[in-house]
Amino acid sequence: MIDAAFGTASEAPPLRAAGSSRVEHAWAVLASVLDPEVPVVSVVDLGIVRAVSDDGETLTVVVTPTYSGCPATDVIEASIVAALADAGLGPARIRMQRAPAWTSDWISAEGRARLRGYGIVPPGPVDLAEGVPLRFVPRAVAPLACPRCESMDTERLAAFGATACKALWRCRACGEPFEHFKSI
Ligand SMILES: [Zn+2]
Repeated sequence: MIDAAFGTASEAPPLRAAGSSRVEHAWAVLASVLDPEVPVVSVVDLGIVRAVSDDGETLTVVVTPTYSGCPATDVIEASIVAALADAGLGPARIRMQRAPAWTSDWISAEGRARLRGYGIVPPGPVDLAEGVPLRFVPRAVAPLACPRCESMDTERLAAFGATACKALWRCRACGEPFEHFKSI
C-alpha cells in the first residue's frame, strides 16, 4: 500500500466529500492510519498528529513522535503521506515538531479503550503538578490492574516489551502476561 501510493496522487479518485474541506477530510483519513507498533490505535488517537494545514497546494501534517528515537517514526510518516495520496488529498508533507514533547496524556479516550481491548494496559495520566521528571534511578513501579481478571496482584517482568514504549507484566492471580504502554 505504501510503495504503490507514492507518486500516484493524481491518479487516485478524489474521495473528498462535498461540503467538507480538504483539511477536515485529511483528519478523517488520518483517523484510519494505524500506529505500526500498536496496530489498533490510529495516529490521531495516539495524539501524534498535532495539526493539519492546507496552503492551497500541499497539505502539511505536523507530527510529534512518541519517542525521539522511535524506530516506527519513518513508517508512520510514510503511512500518513500514502494514506492522504490514496484518498486523493495529496500532495502532503510531514513536519516534525519535537517540542512540546509528546506525552502519553495525549492518547484519546477512544485510544485508551482500544489499547485495553487489545490487552495492553493504557498509560495513566501524568500528574501535571509534578510534570514528567527525568529519572536516572529506577522508580517504584505502581501496580496495574490485570486486563483479564482486574486483579491488582500483578508484577512487572521487564521494563521493555515487544517495543521500547511498552513494558512486560504478568498477573499473579490468573497468570496472564500483558503489556503496558508506559506513561511518559
Ligand atoms: Zn489476571
